[in-house]
Amino acid sequence: MILTDTHTHLYSEAFDEDRDAVMQKAIESGVGRFFIPAIDASYIPSMLNLKASYPERVFLMAGLHPTHVKENYAEELEQAREMLETHKVYGIGETGIDLYWDKTFLKEQQEAFRTQIRWAKELQLPVIIHCRDAFQEVFEVLESEKDDRLFGIFHCFTGTAEDAQRAIDCNLKLGIGGVVTFKNGKIDKFLADFPLEHMVLETDSPYLAPVPYRGKRNESSYLLHVADKMAEVYGISVEEVAAVTTENSKKIFGI
Ligand SMILES: [Zn+2]
Repeated sequence: MILTDTHTHLYSEAFDEDRDAVMQKAIESGVGRFFIPAIDASYIPSMLNLKASYPERVFLMAGLHPTHVKENYAEELEQAREMLETHKVYGIGETGIDLYWDKTFLKEQQEAFRTQIRWAKELQLPVIIHCRDAFQEVFEVLESEKDDRLFGIFHCFTGTAEDAQRAIDCNLKLGIGGVVTFKNGKIDKFLADFPLEHMVLETDSPYLAPVPYRGKRNESSYLLHVADKMAEVYGISVEEVAAVTTENSKKIFGI
């Protein structure tokens, strides 16, 4: 059984003390592939380090996270663009809109989002979308950029069944993580109405740990708990969840 963590920030400072142990534990738990979305330019060296340590298992992305869109976002975008021109990257992001923490830079977030969607379409790469308290705003940009070149992942999907359908209509997979295990997470109630072919699994480590680790530091080995819950939701075996969602990740990332 091979699980694919399609969204993990294992390069972040949260793992500086025990990164190799965390990687080893994940690999022993059956998590064999790790896709690492970007945050901002300051994290690029640690992303490259992780890639150098696990070249067969870790896959890079380039982009600018919406909560890191500030006055200097144009400069940040330039560095993200340079990253994707000088390295083999498998996706653009994470990008999108986050109005939970701060609404100050909404206009800039929208612009950075649109720019990164256009890069993804130009380079035929998947776009990895982050959306928090901003479904309306995210779909406004997405649907105006939607064409047959647009594809990617709606990461950490927390929306309604209607939002899920809208995302799928934009040729996006739903990134399912710890939220599916939360009592009040709600998505477990309707996910099985959609074929598993539309889903990929992720942890978003170090954030959003699944039950029974909710509130603690998340790590990629906990992906097994997400897979278990998906097996329960779909009424199939965890091996089948792993096989289908890893296959979906291969289609999205081309590897
Ligand atoms: Zn993330």
